[in-house]
Amino acid sequence: MGRPPASRTGVAQWATVPTIVFVHAHPDDEASQTSGTMTRAAADGHRVVCVYATGGDHGTAPDDLGERALADLRREEAEASARVTGTQRLVWLGYADSGMHGWEQNHAPDALWQADVPAAARALARVLDTEDADVVVGYDWHGGYGHPDHIMVHRITRHAVELAARRPRYLESSMNRDRMRSLYAMAAEAGMIAPDEVWDVDAPMDDGNPIGTPEADLHWDVDVSGFIDAKRAALACHASQPDAAGMLQMPPEAFAVAFGHEFFVEPGRPEGMVVGWPFN
Ligand SMILES: [Zn+2]
Repeated sequence: MGRPPASRTGVAQWATVPTIVFVHAHPDDEASQTSGTMTRAAADGHRVVCVYATGGDHGTAPDDLGERALADLRREEAEASARVTGTQRLVWLGYADSGMHGWEQNHAPDALWQADVPAAARALARVLDTEDADVVVGYDWHGGYGHPDHIMVHRITRHAVELAARRPRYLESSMNRDRMRSLYAMAAEAGMIAPDEVWDVDAPMDDGNPIGTPEADLHWDVDVSGFIDAKRAALACHASQPDAAGMLQMPPEAFAVAFGHEFFVEPGRPEGMVVGWPFN
């Protein structure tokens, strides 16, 4: 037997383990949204790459930040998270965090919200080509919850798939709105949260759309409960951010229920959510 071909052509003479590129808007999004899947993929021998569109420079600056730039701290946090998940390479597209809709930063010339989508997609496609990526994972059409940077990640990733020299398989990370609705109802019924703490998942978010995707429009339900400790640890790497810190305050059992599954849309796939592993 010789060596496998250095460059994969799609004609598999040897079984290859796909390279998966995850695209995220800010450092910490990988932890909350896809770190279970990333950890499992890396444990299975996949090459896992994480692309960040922005440096998260409009996140929350901790009191002890001193003279340092927040983006530097968040880069270190992302590197620590990558060590937890087994992510082998981080890529920074270098855009500025746009903040939420209506914030002044939306209009900054280097804000991701102002980015030229084809140009950003070309930059991402170069990463896909360098990696000879088999799969790329972006966000659903409204970025899950309408954050301008998340919407842009959707647009850029979708476009980059068209530009890549070898078209990768394309998935979109999302949340299961129906599951969230029933988890809140169960938690209220069990007295774990007060009735007024039940979040109306059908209410409009930042961009006027409700969170995530109805279950009928999802394609993959990935059970990451076996990797829940890694998911917690990845989030803990981003403890400077209140969202991550808030999630970590959940009791472990509740955390496992809330975050033990990660959901994906795979455009073009037949309807129906499959409970399973998309990357065999
Ligand atoms: Zn984000």
